[in-house]
Amino acid sequence: MQKSYIIALDQGTTSSRALLLNQEGTILGIVQKEFKQIFPKSGWVEHDPVEILESQLGVFSKLIKAHNIAAKEIKAIGITNQRETTIVWDRHTGKPVYNAIVWQDKRTADICEHMTQSGLKEHVKKTTGLVIDSYFSGTKIKWILDHVQGAKTKAENGDLLFGTVDSWLVWNMTNRTDHITDYTNASRTLIYDIVNLKWDDKLLNFLGIPKSMLPEVKPSAYHFGDYELNGVKIPITGIAGDQQAALFGQACFKEGQAKNTYGTGCFMLMNTGEKPTFSKNGLLTTIAFGLEGKVTYALEGSIFIAGAAVQWLRDGLELIKDAKETEALADSVEGENPVYVVPAFAGLGAPYWDMYARGAVFGLTRDTGKAHLAKATLESLAYQTKDILKAMEDDSGIQLENLRVDGGACANNHIMQFQADILDTEVHRPKVIESTAMGAAFLAGIQIGLWKKEDIDQNRPMNRIFKPSFDRVKRKRLYGKWKKAVERTKGWEEI
Ligand code: ADP
Repeated sequence: MQKSYIIALDQGTTSSRALLLNQEGTILGIVQKEFKQIFPKSGWVEHDPVEILESQLGVFSKLIKAHNIAAKEIKAIGITNQRETTIVWDRHTGKPVYNAIVWQDKRTADICEHMTQSGLKEHVKKTTGLVIDSYFSGTKIKWILDHVQGAKTKAENGDLLFGTVDSWLVWNMTNRTDHITDYTNASRTLIYDIVNLKWDDKLLNFLGIPKSMLPEVKPSAYHFGDYELNGVKIPITGIAGDQQAALFGQACFKEGQAKNTYGTGCFMLMNTGEKPTFSKNGLLTTIAFGLEGKVTYALEGSIFIAGAAVQWLRDGLELIKDAKETEALADSVEGENPVYVVPAFAGLGAPYWDMYARGAVFGLTRDTGKAHLAKATLESLAYQTKDILKAMEDDSGIQLENLRVDGGACANNHIMQFQADILDTEVHRPKVIESTAMGAAFLAGIQIGLWKKEDIDQNRPMNRIFKPSFDRVKRKRLYGKWKKAVERTKGWEEI
């Protein structure tokens, strides 16, 4: 019997990865290659689009060679990618006119300022679900058209194409025929109307972006085109931006289901159903996925300092040698922790939005030791997550069903148990925490009829489910103290 495999391409910010899955959805192999980060000036971050493409195709080819897979055994390809990163290229030569401007790049702050001063804030929020920020693609496209010689004229003549990384990969993988993206990636561009599912004329006009540059936008499970390998056409049938792919990979298919990725920072997304919910708390509204003729929306919030606070314990305070040690240290504290760490090292994000806040430690007494500090630092990840989830519930009126977790710091049982306790919600840690790649693979597999959404939900083995154990009074007392600590960090820096 012929074997069937799915390949997930995970094009991230620092590396390109390819994952091989069998038809049971088990990961059989991963190949990864890092690529160059280019920092031409302070606040600028670029990648070489050709290196992105070559590294991605390189790991693909290495993976199938290593596992001795024939092209005809690969039934579909799913792509997930770093979001918002912007590439503009010449449709005739295939050459990028400039490096990829990466999501982290801040060079377009003044364009954003101009947008805000021109009164576009409300329009941007209601149309794109986003806030005006250099993070998103729109102002990066304008920067390229304004600064690369001849680019504007070429764009107006229809000679240039824009794409997020998924688009760039697909266009190249389909022999330069399919200029296409999916809803999740389009929803991060600052020029896409997530309500009416079309590019927004007002924003395109303001930024001077001709429509001819833009990719077609399709559902996340869709036949985007074929990648020809050794004479075999392999369909590309799944695309989603990395955070949305992780949400899908965590099988958050229903309203009220949410995932949190605990990395350097935290990225949280909650499925809010088929109508967009616009936040009163500064959260982003985004498309979670387009599937089976419907579009599902999500609220998105991020925490700047999460695992980074654990790094501070290790590198700043030198209290530990390895992040893992924090778990036993925190477990050694008996009873409630009187110490609170608010890691507002770079101000406070959602839902507080105070860039003048700075970090602080509260509740020190003569017997405070490093275990208290470690425990308080771990707890700060859980408290910050609760702040955002509360904002999401408040915005959407939807109650969180359970929290599905991934990312490096989700390995820490102390954080996870405290997370369940303080949220009063189960925390589900799956066996496979490759949620991003799994999401892309699931989308691709669903489109070719290999899998069904329902099967995926049922066949995700759990590593551990953390159940809440605090009573209401205790939870309220501890969270109340956290809120008090946060209040006292606000406005620390002089304006
Ligand atoms: P990123 O993708 O943002 O680089 P990762 O998902 O690799 O992050 O997670 C790494 C972060 O998680 C680091 O900030 C590290 O301090 C933290 N971390 C990793 N393992 C643990 C652990 N066992 N306990 C607490 N924090 C951890």
